[in-house]
Amino acid sequence: MTLAANKTLVNITRFRQDFPILQQEVNGKPLAYLDNGATTQKPQIVIDTVRDYYERDNANVHRGVHTLSARATDAYEAARHKIKDFINANSEKEIIFTGGTTEAINLVASSYGQSRIGQGDEILISTMEHHSNIVPWQMLCQRTGATLKVIPMNKHGELLFDEFKQLINARTKLLAIVHVSNALGTINPIEAMITIAHQHDVPVLVDGAQAIAHTSVDVQALDVDFYAFSGHKMFGPTGIGVLYGKQELLEAMPPYQGGGDMISVVSFSGTTYNELPYKFEAGTPNIAGVIGLGAAVDYLTNIGLDNIAAYEHHLLDTLTDKAQDIEGLRIIGQAENKTSILSFLVDGAHAADIGELLDQQGVAIRAGHHCAMPVMEFFHINASARASLAFYNNEEDITQFIAALNSSLTLLR
Ligand code: PLP
Repeated sequence: MTLAANKTLVNITRFRQDFPILQQEVNGKPLAYLDNGATTQKPQIVIDTVRDYYERDNANVHRGVHTLSARATDAYEAARHKIKDFINANSEKEIIFTGGTTEAINLVASSYGQSRIGQGDEILISTMEHHSNIVPWQMLCQRTGATLKVIPMNKHGELLFDEFKQLINARTKLLAIVHVSNALGTINPIEAMITIAHQHDVPVLVDGAQAIAHTSVDVQALDVDFYAFSGHKMFGPTGIGVLYGKQELLEAMPPYQGGGDMISVVSFSGTTYNELPYKFEAGTPNIAGVIGLGAAVDYLTNIGLDNIAAYEHHLLDTLTDKAQDIEGLRIIGQAENKTSILSFLVDGAHAADIGELLDQQGVAIRAGHHCAMPVMEFFHINASARASLAFYNNEEDITQFIAALNSSLTLLR
């Protein structure tokens, strides 16, 4: 079935008009933005919300007695409420604003890790993690004497489930796993993994950076303990992200950073900490970022994550089918359950050269190791080219990409 033959799929494509940046030409060609895994573009409503905040309401939150501060605080807390509903958390106390996924994971590694993980303990991650979900755990292991264990994968880019079950044991103190791999597009079976981890009393952190804009996430249904994501990968501003954590876990964790807002009383004889979620939000937060993220969440909710997932599934199938017709093209990551990402190599052409030549034809992709060097090592490659989709991409983008790739390859090979 073509996109045009399906009504729901066609309806999604009209939302492309909401993105002013997509209406331009780059290097004399319409922009085909296929680098959504790196960051997504912003709809007009997010841009307007951030601008309106600075034009009308800018003030510090939780502090001032004046009208602007009250407005800023209301908008800030309203965004927290929207995000709580968006991922179906139980309470606003479970929504901690961070700078992004990276900071959210570092928060858990520092606070939870330092207080609960020690010598002889094990932390379980997988081969397909982004560096953000590797390095904080390596650093924690260095500090505590714990050991990092790694779940292997097969040549399709799927985790080996039986190996996972063997690796989890009484020494395992945390499972930290990516929901959707940014280098492969694999959707991991996190629900089943969480069930097994909990049978061993192991809490689970899920890196949701690449999942949150492509599939609906219900943290209560998943029973996940921590879920981290970034605003900029879900059509919101940069520099803002979320750590969801179960309230009882967050309550028991020591603060991550000290400073303003995270305290209740400060005295030289001792300091008491603020209640959740403020205990983890030291200093003036990214107020405009939070409010902009709230607008992005409204926007996404209106389109519907299930509609987005169905549309992108179709688009990825179309892209994959057409790419496979190109001689010498090898897809990196062919998991059964995949979303939105086509990582590839072509015989006789460097990924970086492909990226540059595509750019000259208005097509934006990423080329490199995608901050997932262990994935590259597994496939014995240094880099791959990656086209990554969002719901505003359409069949014209794919046609332009395939034509540009073919003409680049005639120059390169
Ligand atoms: N995890 C995954 C799977 C990612 O793709 C990324 C970013 O590409 C991150 C974590 C880090 O996100 P951020 O740089 O927004 O903190």
